[in-house]
Amino acid sequence: MIFARIALLPSGWAENVRVSGSAGRITEIVAQTHPHPDDTRVDALIPGMPNVHSHAFQRGHSGLTEMRGAGQESFWTWREMMYRFALSVSPEDVSALAEMAYVEMLEAGFTRVGEFHYLHHDPSGAPYDNPAELSERIFDAAETTGIALTHLPVFYAHGGFGPKPAGEGQRRFLHDIDAFIALIERCDKRITRPQDRVGFAPHSLRAASHEDLTALTAALPGRRLHIHISEQVKEVEDCLDHHGQRPVEWLLDNFDVGADWCLIHATHLTERETARLAACGAVAGLCPVTEANLGDGLFPAPDFLNAGGRIAIGTDSNVRIDVAEELRVLEYGQRLTKRARNVLAEEGGSTGRRLLDAALAGGAQALDAPSPEIAVDAPADLVSLSDPLDLAPNGDNLIDRWVFGRDVDVDHVWAAGEHVVQHGRHVRRDAVQHRFGEVLRRVLV
Ligand code: ZN
Repeated sequence: MIFARIALLPSGWAENVRVSGSAGRITEIVAQTHPHPDDTRVDALIPGMPNVHSHAFQRGHSGLTEMRGAGQESFWTWREMMYRFALSVSPEDVSALAEMAYVEMLEAGFTRVGEFHYLHHDPSGAPYDNPAELSERIFDAAETTGIALTHLPVFYAHGGFGPKPAGEGQRRFLHDIDAFIALIERCDKRITRPQDRVGFAPHSLRAASHEDLTALTAALPGRRLHIHISEQVKEVEDCLDHHGQRPVEWLLDNFDVGADWCLIHATHLTERETARLAACGAVAGLCPVTEANLGDGLFPAPDFLNAGGRIAIGTDSNVRIDVAEELRVLEYGQRLTKRARNVLAEEGGSTGRRLLDAALAGGAQALDAPSPEIAVDAPADLVSLSDPLDLAPNGDNLIDRWVFGRDVDVDHVWAAGEHVVQHGRHVRRDAVQHRFGEVLRRVLV
C-alpha cells in the first residue's frame, strides 16, 4: 500500500491519500486519512507516463554520434551510423539493449512503451527460423523489467518515394504484406500479460507506398497505427515531388486518419495541416529531445494545442530517457523561437501540469491503454515524486519544479502494481546494466 502526502486524482490534487491495489489494479483510494505502519510513504503520487515512441536498440549508441565528420552533419548522416549499428546486433544483444532502455524508462516515470520495432531479420537480411524472434525479445524485455508494452511491428518495404528499392543497410527491416501480417499474428499469440497490446507501424511514406498503406489498413482494422511523418524537410520535398502534396495533407486526403492513428514527429506542418490534424483526433507523437538531437525542426505546438490537438511524448532514439526532459524541451523550443515564457500553459495555469495532462491522455490514446489516472479499477501504474525541501504541498508547483527545476525527482514506480523502482533505482538495474556494458564493449569495437 502507498501513502502519499499529495496525489493527483481525476478530481485534482488530494492530500494524505492511501492507495491500495491488487492483481495489478487500484482497488481503493482514501483521502484525508493516516498511513499504516507498512505503507510505502511518498511525497507526491502521479499516474505513470506512456512513452509512445521508442527504438529500444538505439539506446546502444546514446551519446556516441556527436563527432563531426567531413561536411555538414544531418539526420541522414546519423542514419548511416545507426544502420551500421543495427546490422551488428544479435537477438541476445537486442534483449540486453531493450532491457536497459526499459529499466531507464521505468526509473524516469514511464510505465508503458510503444516499441516501434523495425529490426526483424538476421544480419544477412534472412528471416530467423522464428520470424518473430526479435519481436519476442522485445516482449521478453518488457516482462523482465515490468513495463507495459504496446508492440508496434514496423512494415518497411522501400527505400524512398517512387517506390525506390530498399538499400543494403535496410535489409533487416523488410517484409512483403503477407509476411508482415503473419508477423502481427505471431505477436498476438506471444501476449501473456493483460496490459500488452499489438498495433502496427508503416515506417513512413518513404518506406510504405500508397498501395501498401491501403492493403495494411484493410487487413489490420481496429489496431493502433503509428507512422513517422514530416520529420525532415527533405522528406517533405520528396513527397511534394512524388505526390504533389505535403506528407500530412496527402495522408489526410487519402486515408481515414482518426483517433486510432499516431503521427510521429509531424514536425513540418502548414497552418492548414496543423488545424486539420488537430481536428481529426489523431495523436501527434512528439519526441522533443531526439528531434533536438537530430536537428529535425520544431513542431507548431501552440497552434496545435489551441486547436484542440492531442499530443504525446516519446523517447525515440533513446539518446536520453527522461519524462521531465521531454516536457521541458517541448516548452523550451517554443520559448527560444517565440522569445516568450510559459508558451504552452493556459492563462493562469502551470506549464508543467498542462504538458503532463496532455501527454498522459494523448499517450494512453496512442498506445491503446486505459486512461492513466489514479482511480479505482485503473491499472496500478504509479510514479512518486520526492520533494526533499518539503515545500508546501502545491501539486502543480511540484510538477513545475520537477519539469523545470532541480529538487524534485522520481523516487518510486509501480508498474501493474509491482514496485519496480525503489529510491530511484530499478530493482534489476545492476544485472541489466552489467549485461548492457558487455554488449556495447563487444559491438562497438
Ligand atoms: Zn522514430
